[in-house]
This record gives sequence, C-alpha cells and structure tokens, in this order.
Amino acid sequence: MRALLIAGNWKMNPATVAAAAGLARAVKAGVGQETTVHIVVCPASVHLSLIDQILEGSPLGLGGQNMHWKTEGAYTGELSAAMLVDIGCTHVILGHSERRHGMGETDRMVNDKLMAALGVGLIPIVCLGETKDERLGDRTEAVLLTQLSGSLAGLEPEAMARVVLAYEPVWAIGTGLTASPEQAQAAHAFIRGWLAQQFGQATADHVVVQYGGSVKPDNALELLSCPDIDGALVGGASLKAADFLAITECGRQAARRKSGKTH
Ligand code: PEP
Repeated sequence: MRALLIAGNWKMNPATVAAAAGLARAVKAGVGQETTVHIVVCPASVHLSLIDQILEGSPLGLGGQNMHWKTEGAYTGELSAAMLVDIGCTHVILGHSERRHGMGETDRMVNDKLMAALGVGLIPIVCLGETKDERLGDRTEAVLLTQLSGSLAGLEPEAMARVVLAYEPVWAIGTGLTASPEQAQAAHAFIRGWLAQQFGQATADHVVVQYGGSVKPDNALELLSCPDIDGALVGGASLKAADFLAITECGRQAARRKSGKTH
C-alpha cells in the first residue's frame, strides 16, 4: 500500500519570521512522532533554514516551493537544488499552476528542474492540472497527457518511482471550489493508467499521486479515501495549524480505511 503524503504549501505566507516559526512549532507539536502518513511543510525560501532547525527531531519533511534547473551561476534571485538539500529540504514543489500560469513555467522547464532535483536526492512534487476552460471544453485528459509527457520526459521507471505527482485542477486552487471525489478519482485513475503504460504497472502502483485544490478538514477524508488519491497538497488550509493537523488526521483515517483496518 502507498503511504499517504500530506504537504502544506505555505506560498508567500506567513508575512513574518515569527509567524512562520509559530506555525512550524504548532504543526510539529501536533504531529509528534506520528508517522502513519508522511507530512511535509513547504515554507517560503527565506524561512526554510529556521524552519529546518525548528523541525529537528520531528518526522516532518521540509520542502522548497520552487528551484532553478542549473546547479550554480549567474541566475539572480534563484535557488539551486543543492542549496535546498544543504538547507535541509527533502522535497520540492515543481510546476505549481501559479508558476505555470503566472510565471510562464513550461513543461520543458519543469522537466529540467525535475532532473536536477532527482540528481541531488530531492523528492520532486510535480503539479499538473487543467484550467476551468479546459475542463469545460472536455480537454482535461488531453491537458494532463501533455503535462505528463512533457514534465516527465526521459525518466526511467526507477527515477519515476521517486517522483510524487500532484493533480491540482487550476479552477480549484484557492477558490474554495473542490473537485468532487468522483472527478478527482477519475483524473487520478487516468494519470495512473498513463504511468502504467509508460513505466509499467509496478511503477504506477508505487507512485504517490496527491490531490490539491481547496482541500479542507471537511472534505479531506472523502477525497483521501479514493483508491488512487494518495495524499493532498494543501494551500490555504496549511496556514492554520489546527486545519492542517485535522487534514493529516483525515489522512490517518483514510490510510486505516484503505488498509481495511476498522480502528
Ligand atoms: C495549492 O497551493 O497547491 C493549493 C491547492 O491551494 P489551496 O489548497 O488553497 O487551493
């Protein structure tokens, strides 16, 4: 069975070092030594170093929100994969829709970043998803195919097994609209089917595919209980420790359901 992964994408929040530290301390205290689900927080890059120190001794992972594909050099304002590892990161979010649609990030760029992340042992969380117009135009699967084949180009099955995917319908991110469990499960099953075709069934069965898009404590259990949904990438609700912890508790309950345990 795939272990669930719940990741909090703090984006350009909270506004101060003190607030970011407080959030990290509260999440750490709430998670304790619990490891039934894997949990990662992805703070702003300026807060990573401090949050890494705060998380010491906890099973929580630490993720960057972006990186450059080059290893070093004249790339003003950028971070390399090795810098993220050096500062304590285990994960990095790549190809978030806010970067694809707001900063012109292409599948080719995501693919280059993916290779650089894997090269230094970071676990990439590669985001995919259709816009509202694409869904209404019945183009969801075509868009996913383009993003999957472009972003994951050139990977061998062994490398693919180290990648996490996040299906995030753009129309559901930060909007309060959530894909229904049926819509999300259908997209996840499509993604897993494509993985099986390209990399073989064993790899497809191994890859964690998160759902993202207005995941909240009151919808998380239903989404996370779907057979092909292996976790959540959480934006807004990850900024309130109580909400994020409630979502991780839904993850534990969903994991118990999936393993057939009733307690
Ligand atoms: C996200 O930022 O990846 C996200 C899913 O945000 P939200 O949960 O706020 O929709």
